[in-house]
Amino acid sequence: MKVAIIGGGLAGLTAAAYLSEQPNTEGVLFERSPQLGGRAFTYEKAGFTLNYGAHAIYGLDRHTLSVMERELHLRFGSKQVDKRKVMYEKGEHLTPAPLDFRNLVKTDILSGMQKIRFVGEITAIIANIHQIKHYATLGDYLAESGAAEDVKELWEHLVCSNFFITPEDARRVPGSVISEYYHNLFLSSRPVNYVLGSWAVITDQLRDKIQLAERWSIAMQEGVDGIQYDHGKYVLKTKAREEAFDRVVFAMPVQQVVKLLRGTPWEPFLEPYEHNSATEVMVYDVGLSHVVARPFSYISDMNHKMFISDVSATDHTLVPEGGQLLQGIAYLSDENASGQGDRKAYLEERTQQMEALFDRHYPGWRDAVAVKRVSKKAMVQSVKNVAGNKLLPIRIENMPFYFCGDGCEGKGELAERAFSSGRLAAELLAKELARV
Ligand SMILES: Cc1cc2nc3c(=O)[nH]c(=O)nc-3n(C[C@H](O)[C@H](O)[C@H](O)COP(=O)(O)OP(=O)(O)OC[C@H]3O[C@@H](n4cnc5c(N)ncnc54)[C@H](O)[C@@H]3O)c2cc1C
Repeated sequence: MKVAIIGGGLAGLTAAAYLSEQPNTEGVLFERSPQLGGRAFTYEKAGFTLNYGAHAIYGLDRHTLSVMERELHLRFGSKQVDKRKVMYEKGEHLTPAPLDFRNLVKTDILSGMQKIRFVGEITAIIANIHQIKHYATLGDYLAESGAAEDVKELWEHLVCSNFFITPEDARRVPGSVISEYYHNLFLSSRPVNYVLGSWAVITDQLRDKIQLAERWSIAMQEGVDGIQYDHGKYVLKTKAREEAFDRVVFAMPVQQVVKLLRGTPWEPFLEPYEHNSATEVMVYDVGLSHVVARPFSYISDMNHKMFISDVSATDHTLVPEGGQLLQGIAYLSDENASGQGDRKAYLEERTQQMEALFDRHYPGWRDAVAVKRVSKKAMVQSVKNVAGNKLLPIRIENMPFYFCGDGCEGKGELAERAFSSGRLAAELLAKELARV
């Protein structure tokens, strides 16, 4: 059985690594760009190791990556972000983020009575008896909850931080998604970790595994431009070849799948997924020649909905000796502005707010910049997990393909959704192969 996997990001690499262990399969992983990793691509600049998409793992002990570590024998180190140095800024005031009971006692985000209420909410989520799972959205739950404004604001802010979205979008996240996500996170003993050395530590091992499998190969810089059905096979076209396969796994953002299948007999099946919106943020990475200040590991500006992580405070392997790597992320509203000019002004305003946040907490950073990367529109998740959007299933009825990626159904959000859907696609395909 010959399998094609289109896309060499986290999802495609995961699916290929699992399938390469299957007897009686052979395959090709197609990647159109010169490097693997997709949005989790890692690169070196002036001694700094930067990721395009950051490598924080939420709830590592309950994360799909830990399952893959066991099943695929991956080896990687990780380090927990120091919870005592995770702060929220509200108004002019700095206070500990209520990440655990010790921080919750110390934080000024909630008053005494509201702290008791919030502990009750956490306990109910952990016990899986919280009513939120019965509500269509977080907003619907909050409207009926009778909670004080500060508790509502805290819920919204948590969802903003974990899903990389604005408060308006946070209110649209389905109650069942919130319940499952925070059940895992609140039960985790390792809530926020970095993979030491960045995503490359994972993607290199997945690549090696695929390349070591005798009947599998990776085709770099070979974008798939077309696909057609011919005598029971699927013929993929790239600039370099036309090759027939028995099965195809699409491991790319939903928007790109829709584009690739436009004009084919399969186009109508994707119609329900065509209008999904993606989660996009502004990213402001700076590598500094020396540590200008180290007041926190993470500072979240509640007023402007943006945060800065001192990535090198947790993962010192990413910087040259004495250097500092800071990553700023600003959540973005959808393109609600009436014209291009408005959007440009909005993004400019967000940039200025971000620079002001750097100025407040990292004075002198401007003079120490060795590396800088600003992206005003980076796709964090190809389908924003909010009401109105529809995640792509791993299989669609009457469609002969498999799908995986961070816009597909699976466990978790962001990279975990890419890993978990890649693993699931491989599992379903292996079951089908066993039946055949
Ligand atoms: C700024 C930012 C910060 C982030 N922070 C975190 C974080 O802290 N924690 C976390 O868990 N996640 C984070 N993420 C999210 C994470 O990076 C993504 O969820 C994940 O990388 C998505 O992987 P994927 O395989 O689904 O898709 P992609 O990475 O998009 O992979 C798809 C691949 O398919 C290839 N491709 C597309 N079309 C074709 C074609 N026709 N032929 C061949 N190849 C094709 C592309 O080149 C690409 O390599 C962040 C993302 C960003 C942008």
